[in-house]
Amino acid sequence: MSDLFNVVILGSGCAGNTAAIYAARANLKPLVLEGHEPGGQLSITTEVENFPGFPEGILGPGLVQNMKQQAERFGATFRHGRAVHSDLSNRPFTLELEDGEKIQTLTLIIATGASARWLNLPNEQKLIGHGVSSCATCDGFFFRGKKIMVIGGGDSAMEEANFLSRFGSEVTVVHRSETFRASKIMLDRARKNQKIQFLPNTVVKDVYDVTKGEVTGVQLHNVLTKEIYDREVDGFFVAIGHIPNTKAFAGQLDLDPDGYIITHGGARTNISGVFHAGDVQDRIYRQAITASGAGCMAAIEAERFLEAEGH
Ligand code: NDP
Repeated sequence: MSDLFNVVILGSGCAGNTAAIYAARANLKPLVLEGHEPGGQLSITTEVENFPGFPEGILGPGLVQNMKQQAERFGATFRHGRAVHSDLSNRPFTLELEDGEKIQTLTLIIATGASARWLNLPNEQKLIGHGVSSCATCDGFFFRGKKIMVIGGGDSAMEEANFLSRFGSEVTVVHRSETFRASKIMLDRARKNQKIQFLPNTVVKDVYDVTKGEVTGVQLHNVLTKEIYDREVDGFFVAIGHIPNTKAFAGQLDLDPDGYIITHGGARTNISGVFHAGDVQDRIYRQAITASGAGCMAAIEAERFLEAEGH
């Protein structure tokens, strides 16, 4: 017989951890499956200066660690690993973990997040947090008066470039194609911004400098002229989209064409007893504080759902 939980929370970023705090304080003894990136996206950022309550800022990994301790204090249990399969057709829901173990739960909160899509350059991952970033709102402030590069041609890239132009001495948008996928209004706004310049038909071959431990430049390739050249930059922002982590629920949950969970109001999904929280549903705001707020909503909904059933 597999273990039966009141609430299983998938994901341990801001959304999952906040859901765990609320569910634990409601005495539901939640289990959090931490996933492969415990702490989520905050665990790979440095200073977080926009989470309310920390006037001096706080390191991202420290912030999520605090949330985890807070949840544990009220009785939440954390386990490493993730659910590889789910059966949401009957209650209790069944989840299969990576080691083959099956667990059951009366309610499920999906807070598996969305992973930034990266370029997979040789040095890219090593320089994350040292000039390479996928979040202008999180890290833009550190590049005041510096040379910034944004990669991508969609709305995210335009939005990031406009935002970063408040800080950088110059912002260069590098895009692999001739035409831009961004909406006209966002593209026009970026084009009118005097600090922003565009390098279309250009692919990044690598970002430097790992030996110095921070970004100092990039190697670019103009796909039309075939020219390969170096360019100095301090901040390298990749904005080529996100991938929501919803593979384990495909075919069961209502997902949009990009794989984001479609909300059915509040924190509800199309399946009664399954709730969403954070970036796995939210492609617009994607902030630590909005994810935490969504985690709180999901836990309150799960609690009320169980209460209505007499648990
Ligand atoms: P998009 O999928 O719209 O755009 C991704 C961009 O990245 C494309 O220009 C694509 O190039 C480029 N790209 C993808 N893979 C690579 C790669 N390996 N190397 C180089 N370039 C690559 O993603 P966004 O995140 O911009 O937007 C996602 C959704 O969210 C959209 O629906 C958007 O409208 C929405 N959004 C809305 C905002 C708003 O309204 N304020 C803000 C941000 C996003 P190519 O075109 O050549 O394929």
